[in-house]
Amino acid sequence: MTELLKISHTMTLAWRYGASWYFAEFIRALRDEQRLLGLRCPICRRVYLPPRPVCGNCHAELREWVEVKDSGTVRAFTIVHTPIIDPTTGQPRPTPYGMALIQLDGADTTLNHYLAENDPAKLQIGMRVQAVWRAERKGTLNDIAHFASISPIAERDAQAASSQASSSKLQSPISNLHSPISNPQSLFITAGVNLSFNYAAGKAASRFLIALRDEKKIFGARCPSCQRVLVPARSFCPRCFVDTSDWVEVGPNGTLGAFAATDNLAFALIRLDGADTALVHRVNVTNADELRIGLRVAPVFAETRRGHILDLAYFQPA
Ligand SMILES: [Zn+2]
Ligand SMILES: [Zn+2]
Repeated sequence: MTELLKISHTMTLAWRYGASWYFAEFIRALRDEQRLLGLRCPICRRVYLPPRPVCGNCHAELREWVEVKDSGTVRAFTIVHTPIIDPTTGQPRPTPYGMALIQLDGADTTLNHYLAENDPAKLQIGMRVQAVWRAERKGTLNDIAHFASISPIAERDAQAASSQASSSKLQSPISNLHSPISNPQSLFITAGVNLSFNYAAGKAASRFLIALRDEKKIFGARCPSCQRVLVPARSFCPRCFVDTSDWVEVGPNGTLGAFAATDNLAFALIRLDGADTALVHRVNVTNADELRIGLRVAPVFAETRRGHILDLAYFQPA
């Protein structure tokens, strides 16, 4: 019986994108001052949050910052049961969790964010929620961990206390915030995720990889109908839709069919001797000028092999 392989692979995705100074200013206030800023339209007076440069209704440029509260009203909600990758951690977010469109007090648009509550029986449209901030803020919307429900009584008490302490400055323009950002680096957001996969290699691919690992041999599988030898070996012929039958050792040398190259590394379609399909693999050359269609290449195997396509480390000119 064939040993069945599992192949672990981590895909690292890193990105850096320009935030524009509107979003940079929003993020700066959120991170450094734990304040939420919206932009007010000079014509329709709608307050946008998250901020955007132009009013969608009036097509007017938005230039007036106003502070918005971190409490608000749930306008729509859902409970998510399917784990999706959390872009901030690269890991699936534990389910179930609640998400809502929240209209923050002072804003006319809604913010999409997480809820602390995940029991739909305890959620309703119109319920009041309050942001729960993280102790350490990094400058993303994730600095708010989630929104938690607030009881009407608690909210009434809090409002009474705050109206005694100070008259609210909400909704008055904050003119000094409308200056260009001094540090251009703050206009960029860097983020990334690591996506971890475990592939089941299946019977044919496992046997192919085990031959690479244990014998340093390359196998194809022959289609009993069209007689083509498919490499890497696979369990069925995609042209005839029949199971492959014979195992055929191919190569180890082959011929370059096509390639794409950087300085000294190329990826190529390699037609191994005895195969009817091309294998995509690396070709190492000292000089990219050596590469040409029809070049004869030979495989170099890795010293330590683990049942992976990179047990065949690369090809080089034969
Ligand atoms: Zn407007
Ligand atoms: Zn076939």
